[in-house]
Amino acid sequence: MKVLKFGGTSVGSIENIQNVKNIINDGEQKIVVLSAMSGTTNTLVTIASAIENKTPEEGVGIAKALQEKYHTVVDQLFNEENLNIDVKNYVNGIFNFLIDLTSENYSLDLANKIVAQGELLSTYMFNAYLKQEGLSAALLPALNFMRIDEAKEPNLSHIKTHLKEEIDNTESADIYITQGFICLDDNDNISNLQRGGSDYTATIIGAAILAEEVQIWTDIDGMHNNDPRCVDGTSPISNLSFDEAAELAYFGAKILHPQTVTPVRVDNIPVRLKNTMDPEAYGTLISSQTPENGIKALAAKEGITAIKIKSGRMLQAHGFLKKVFEIFESYETSIDMITTSEVAVSLTIDDDKNLNKILEELNTIATIEVDTNQSIVCLVGHGIVNHSETFKMFQILQDVKIRMISYGGSNNNISLLVHADDKVKTLRTLHGYLFEPVA
Ligand code: ADP
Ligand code: ASP
Ligand code: MG
Repeated sequence: MKVLKFGGTSVGSIENIQNVKNIINDGEQKIVVLSAMSGTTNTLVTIASAIENKTPEEGVGIAKALQEKYHTVVDQLFNEENLNIDVKNYVNGIFNFLIDLTSENYSLDLANKIVAQGELLSTYMFNAYLKQEGLSAALLPALNFMRIDEAKEPNLSHIKTHLKEEIDNTESADIYITQGFICLDDNDNISNLQRGGSDYTATIIGAAILAEEVQIWTDIDGMHNNDPRCVDGTSPISNLSFDEAAELAYFGAKILHPQTVTPVRVDNIPVRLKNTMDPEAYGTLISSQTPENGIKALAAKEGITAIKIKSGRMLQAHGFLKKVFEIFESYETSIDMITTSEVAVSLTIDDDKNLNKILEELNTIATIEVDTNQSIVCLVGHGIVNHSETFKMFQILQDVKIRMISYGGSNNNISLLVHADDKVKTLRTLHGYLFEPVA
């Protein structure tokens, strides 16, 4: 069985919903994972923020405006009167629930409940729509099987057993539809797999059922060789290894949630990236095939903090780095880049939740300098560290101030740390040096 995930844009308009119906209507049994309609999760986040900012009446206004939009979509999708009424009742039930929640006190659990509603809406509507169109479809409620553990990692054994049970207890159908993104945590509270998490839901389900393939359908024809939101002339990459895709997703290629390939790589389940608006386009195949050597793509991750830790005679002080790493570990903060010299070590983190406490402890063993608002620009490709074309990247030193370089940590990745203001310039200039032929 295949798992097909459709993102926000793919279910964000009547035309695209019809495209999705045509793509999945091929007679093969499949699981379809849906995101919320585009814009919905962002709007739900603003409702939660209004509650947090103690302006619940603003939250009510935002919810009512979104409800109106859903009524319009329902009227466009459902011409059959009873179905129209049924789906509108469901939509109204969700919005009444949301409006009730605005009178509660803010908590993370409350915010998680609010943002979960987008996927519940899209899947209910889509299931009803497929039925109206005469397709064989059934809903598999994700909250009955998707679960994360205490460490916020997917609990795969729970998911396997409960997903199987859910399928066994559901009327047999060609198309099983489920919600991306949402799950329960180890205390049975509604939680989620972080923004963009529907990709991750699809590969977790792919691993749970040992799917033949996972397909991620979105609004672009596969993984491009640079960020198309800020660089012109990018092009799709036909094949990527799991390692390459994992590096690109982790280092900011928004087309994939950072953890997307983790669940499927051990079982070699291929992941195909496809364009809902152009299903004939090849897209990108992520698999265990050994890829060609050389730089494949650039990506960038924002919101990075660099910390320089200076100690009089670092390398001669046994155990100094160990002490440094233990401090980060005790605050569950992972480190992305590291460079060292005789007297200092510089490293970067992207989660600055516990930065002040970390700095307080580091200050007891060393002198600290902190640079916030940095970006990691990452070059990815099999064997790039030894490739004959890689030298071209170093021309960037003429154009942009580079704060750190990480080279040789793995054969597939070279990372540069630049100020956030230089991110776009770095991506564009490197694109010219690496991918555009010299005239
Ligand atoms: P979905 O809602 O379908 O999950 P996303 O917006 O999360 O879609 O991801 C698709 C978007 O990712 C594209 O529209 C594109 O702007 C952006 N993107 C960023 N980097 C890349 C890249 N390297 N290749 C392709 N798309 C990228
Ligand atoms: N709807 C969620 C989000 O916007 C999950 C997803 O789209 O993958 O982040
Ligand atoms: Mg996405």
